[in-house]
Amino acid sequence: MVSEDIVGRVSIIAPVYNEVDSIYPLYESLAKMMDGLGRPAEVILVNDGSTDGSAERLDEIAEKDERFTIVHLRRNFGQTAAISAGFDIARGEAVIAIDADLQNDPADIPAMLAKLEEGYDVVSGWRKHRKDKWLTRRLPSGIANWLISRVTGVHLHDYGCSLKAYRAEVLKDVKLYGEMHRFIPALAYLAGGRVTEMVVRHHPRIHGKTKYGLSRTLGVVLDLATVKFLLTYASRPLQVFGRWGGLMGGIGFLLALYLTVQKVFFGMALANRPALILAVLMILTGVQLISMGLIAELQARTYYEAQDKPIYTVRYVKIKEGRIRNGFPGD
Ligand code: UDP
Ligand code: MG
Repeated sequence: MVSEDIVGRVSIIAPVYNEVDSIYPLYESLAKMMDGLGRPAEVILVNDGSTDGSAERLDEIAEKDERFTIVHLRRNFGQTAAISAGFDIARGEAVIAIDADLQNDPADIPAMLAKLEEGYDVVSGWRKHRKDKWLTRRLPSGIANWLISRVTGVHLHDYGCSLKAYRAEVLKDVKLYGEMHRFIPALAYLAGGRVTEMVVRHHPRIHGKTKYGLSRTLGVVLDLATVKFLLTYASRPLQVFGRWGGLMGGIGFLLALYLTVQKVFFGMALANRPALILAVLMILTGVQLISMGLIAELQARTYYEAQDKPIYTVRYVKIKEGRIRNGFPGD
């Protein structure tokens, strides 16, 4: 094991939306875990526009224990945005995301950190014995996990598990939108990160209500389409649109040529030929797809350049010990 793999400081992030009765038990279980952790840790609780008195209770905790920081968002922005707000101010070398409703167990955190130190960049929790309803939660989630694994090529049993551990540096480059926190392992993997999963505990919800139902699955599937596009095509859209456009346009052109030959050389009428409509449709679609690809190419350039997004990510740069990083060899 190389020394860079040691995780020093740990930031734990939990999004809180109307979890008033869970806050003290959460505080106690986190504090207990941190007391025995043997490394410095901070907790960032993000109040995602709660209206049930969670805000005041969270502030009491910050007052009581300096390891706790509370970020209050102006309104309810959703779980992904809340987690993202926590990531943005986290200062640890390791970052853990966990739910605030006590369904995840802070007692799993030390083992996740140990896994990170084995050399992984992302450790994703797997709620093997998940305590949620089967029909509305576990079944759709099973289908979603299968689909996400297929599409991204990163096979995890439980993308939906909020309890995940990351090396902070892999989070620097991921921008989160929609329901996208669940895709971080896939995004991190495609940026060259090492991803693994670990079985974690899961408890039934005791206080408060779940914020989600069946309808979330559709959102997840739509986000998956975005992720797939971002991952594979975003930097070369014309390759995708152009290929399909060329294929469609090509077939359309050949068909039109065939009809033209029939008309010109054999005097066959075209008025009653559905093939003519098909040929026209295919040529038009082809042209459209190719132009869309070109426009997307322009968009992609704006996108990458506006954000200064590199088209690669570096794990580390090795230089001889004692050499000055920015100096020229021999200087
Ligand atoms: N949450 C949030 N903003 C929202 C919805 C949920 O911050 O708009 C938080 C919620 O307080 C909890 C976590 O996200 O800590 C997971 O939510 P929930 O337990 O309802 O989801 P489930 O476990 O049922 O999938
Ligand atoms: Mg929950």
